Parts: sequence; structure tokens; C-alpha cells
Amino acid sequence: MANPLLKVDDLHVYYGNIHAIKGVSFEVNEGEIVSLIGANGAGKTTTLNTVAGLLKARKGTIEFQGENLQHVPAHKVVNRGMALCPEGRRVFLNMTVRENLEMGAYTRNDAEAKETIETVFERFPLLKERAWQRAGTLSGGEQQMLAMGRAMMSRPSLLMLDEPSMGLAPILVDEIFDIIKALHNAGTTILLVEQNASKALSIADRAYVLETGNVSMEGPAAELANDDRVRKAYLGG
Ligand code: ATP
Repeated sequence: MANPLLKVDDLHVYYGNIHAIKGVSFEVNEGEIVSLIGANGAGKTTTLNTVAGLLKARKGTIEFQGENLQHVPAHKVVNRGMALCPEGRRVFLNMTVRENLEMGAYTRNDAEAKETIETVFERFPLLKERAWQRAGTLSGGEQQMLAMGRAMMSRPSLLMLDEPSMGLAPILVDEIFDIIKALHNAGTTILLVEQNASKALSIADRAYVLETGNVSMEGPAAELANDDRVRKAYLGG
């Protein structure tokens, strides 16, 4: 079997003395949507930020495309084909939509950036309509689309999404999940962190359940969605 695109093994992350991630291991294979689900504070964001190089692990390995990322700083992780769409969107509020997208292409030359912006506009027609609008005046759903579009500007082979549905009305949640499916169908491998477990499990191939810094369950998403413990704890039934 081919090597996984991303292989995280025995990850331990601390905030000062707080042992937030206590030996998390998971894999993402090329072409998959893999989801990390779990309650508030389970360690999902910490795991994602560590994979992206924003936080340092005290122990464990992160291998991406067969290469150990241990000592690779965050800005170089992007060069290697990984992009993070962070929790809370973090778009540049005083910049226009187009400028935000251009920021996502800082690893690429102008011609490549121009071409990619057109691809992103095709995927997100709303961003094209609003190209000259200040990001701070976009709605929450529109800002989420912009954050995803910005992450796609580096043409990542792995797109990591942190709580893309957070704070959005149900109709927009559906729209965002449709876009995630479309990005996946177009060939992007996706690592999805979500508190909306039922939505996440409905589009993922496989999932890992995080509980207080540990992986408590893992398996095909459809199996987890039918598991009694998962249903009781995360699916409201
Ligand atoms: P949420 O969905 O609320 O973001 P999460 O599953 O992403 O939850 P994390 O944000 O990764 O969880 O938090 C994991 C643990 O680390 C929690 O106990 C949290 O309180 C702690 N933690 C997170 N950020 C910090 C920080 N900057 N300083 C200290 N502790 C932190």
C-alpha cells in the first residue's frame, strides 16, 4: 500500500505545563477526507496547528509526503503543499477580497497567482462578485468562503480546515460542506476539524474521535456515525 500523505505519530503538545495532546496518532491518505471530531477543548485545534507548524510538539513525528516536518517552520510548510484554513477564519479585515486571496499566494509567482485566482473565482463566484469589497464587510459565511479560497491559493495537496461551519446559519453550513465536497472532488485531500460531528461524518471517508488529548475511537466515518457511543456523545442521540 502507498505511504500516507500525512502520518502523525505519538504527538505530544504542551501549553506550559498543560499536557494538551497526549500521544495522538492518525493518518491521511491521498484523496481522502479525514475528520477529527470531539468536544470543546478535546485538542482538535491544537493538533491541526501543530501539524501546520504553528505550535511545536514536545514529542512525536509528523511526516508529510514521506518527509519529517519536525524542524520545518510554518511558512515553509506551505511550500511543501499543506494549507491551513484557521478557526475563526482570520481574514484580513481591512483588505479587499482580492488582496486577501493574493496573500494566500505568497509562495507563488505573479503569473501563477493570477491563474490560481481565476480558478478560485470559478469555485467561489461570490468572491469574484465581491473582489473589491473589504473583507470586514463580508458576512460570516462569505468570510469563511474567502478563508477557504485564500487557503486554496497555494494549490495545496492537503487542505486543513478548522471548524469551517462555526457560527454559521444551517443553510450556510450546508453550502460550506457542499464546497468542501467540491474541492475534494476536484482532487484536494482534506483534513477537517469539526464540532458539527454529524455533518463531518456525512462527508468524511474516515474519522478520529479526540477526547482530552487522546484518540478514543477511529474508523470509517459511516461506521462511527452508527456507533452508539458516538451517537450518544456527539450526534445528539
Ligand atoms: P475547540 O473546539 O473549543 O477549539 P479543541 O478541540 O480545538 O476545542 P483545543 O483548542 O486544541 O481544543 O484545546 C485543547 C486543550 O488545550 C484545552 O484544554 C485548552 O484549554 C488548552 N489550550 C488551548 N489553547 C491554549 C493556550 N493558548 N494556552 C493554554 N491552554 C490552551
